[in-house]
Amino acid sequence: MIRKTDPQTIAPYLTDGSNFSGGSADEVIIPESVDELIIFLKSNDRPITIAGAGTGVTASCIPESGLIISLERFVELGNIINASVDVGPAVSLAQLNDYLEPSQYFYPPNPTESLASIGGTLATNASGARSYKYGATRDYVLEADIVLADGRALSLSRGDTIDQPLKFSDGSEESFPEISYTSPKCKNAAGYYVRPGMDWLDLFIGSDGTLGIVTRIRLKLLPRPASFISGVLFFESEEASWHLVSSIRNSDDEFINPCSLEYFDRRSLDRLKNKFEDIPLDAESALFFENDINLQEEYDLALEAWFDYLNGKGVLLDDSWFAQKPNDLKRFHEFRHTIPVMLNEENSRLGRIKIGTDMAVSDSHLLDVMRFYKGELLKRDIDYVIFGHLGDNHLHINLLPETHQIDQAHDIYNILVKQILEWNGTVSAEHGIGKLKKNYFSQMVGESSLEELRSIKKMFDPNLFLGRGNIL
Ligand SMILES: Cc1cc2nc3c(=O)[nH]c(=O)nc-3n(C[C@H](O)[C@H](O)[C@H](O)COP(=O)(O)OP(=O)(O)OC[C@H]3O[C@@H](n4cnc5c(N)ncnc54)[C@H](O)[C@@H]3O)c2cc1C
Repeated sequence: MIRKTDPQTIAPYLTDGSNFSGGSADEVIIPESVDELIIFLKSNDRPITIAGAGTGVTASCIPESGLIISLERFVELGNIINASVDVGPAVSLAQLNDYLEPSQYFYPPNPTESLASIGGTLATNASGARSYKYGATRDYVLEADIVLADGRALSLSRGDTIDQPLKFSDGSEESFPEISYTSPKCKNAAGYYVRPGMDWLDLFIGSDGTLGIVTRIRLKLLPRPASFISGVLFFESEEASWHLVSSIRNSDDEFINPCSLEYFDRRSLDRLKNKFEDIPLDAESALFFENDINLQEEYDLALEAWFDYLNGKGVLLDDSWFAQKPNDLKRFHEFRHTIPVMLNEENSRLGRIKIGTDMAVSDSHLLDVMRFYKGELLKRDIDYVIFGHLGDNHLHINLLPETHQIDQAHDIYNILVKQILEWNGTVSAEHGIGKLKKNYFSQMVGESSLEELRSIKKMFDPNLFLGRGNIL
């Protein structure tokens, strides 16, 4: 086991994509095996924060105090067996994708940040562009090995439901408490997942490092599509892109069945023009789309169907980009990835903590929510950028206040939250609650539900050691 106590070697573990500062830890523990981890935990008496790759945006991996446990030595990648693969939690998405590249399989969840670790994506139930069709990390976790803060270990598989007690390696058992809280039905990553009769595994997925330490994960894989039709569509108005998404959802054309529908508002495009000079000057918004194709011989038919379909829908067709070669698809992903990176860099440069929303509503509120966001934001003179997963009614509004406008930015955030909750939406659809969104989460669920969720936390971690300051 490696132990780091020098503040300089601890410092890199005290940051993530939120630009949150003020974290503190007196030691980083790096176990080399599960046995070593268990032995350490059995005699530990300090709060623990689990470190992933530090790409989260809610400060959930940044400790308030105590120690950090980093699973960075857990980087095994097993053989592909029955369309599944065992991975260590520190394997990054990029490493997993490279590993799968020569095979006939692919791993669909693709949170834009490919440096994220699989353990971190499980703990946040991360999703991304392709979740529109393929779902979130939760849908691809088949099994997990978990160690609790007191050193008890368990292995969970699909089909182990909360109707049966949970059995630990030392013979002890825990039953799921009687609670009335259930998670919202829209895309959601806020707080613990709770549904009647669910798998125990689902409780740990999205628990933001507060219930257990994940040491092995078995992931489900899907057959790799033959290819993707993809493009970046530019629009003559913002409303035209919102309407296109509604229209695509209702389309019964077999070839209009995208897996990604990612939005960029005019302000995103203005920033992106610094790096992508061929963005048309008159574009008011853009959509990055990908449509997976199962049979290569259908590619041309599908492409033709897309061109026909887009006609007369407010798309600047002559100026839009369509992938002609594999590198183009890479470039479009890069285009999508660049906007949050640019904003995170801007925040770091200006010493500003990220003030970005991660809220989602159900399909029926897509147009309402877009008009509401624009209406509220245009009333103020705070700079902002809207981008994200329009197909899932899940936009990231990044508020970019000057120093004297920070309180005002939080006031706007509160106004947006209130309306989203009136529409039964969620305050976090993919990033989790972490340390930065607790206030919004408590508004979302209310005090009595929070108390119920605390009872789940105490069941697994009575000393409240793990992920202190996250979610609750
Ligand atoms: C530019 C950019 C774009 C992004 N785009 C997206 C996006 O499209 N979709 C999306 O969902 N997210 C996105 N994110 C957020 C981030 O990539 C995800 O939240 C990711 O899942 C975090 O993984 P990580 O390994 O960096 O975890 P960390 O940030 O290190 O940790 C996150 C949480 O996971 C816990 N954790 C880590 N490892 C374990 C483990 N082994 N066992 C138990 N708990 C653990 C930590 O304690 C913490 O609570 C983006 C981030 C950036 C910087």
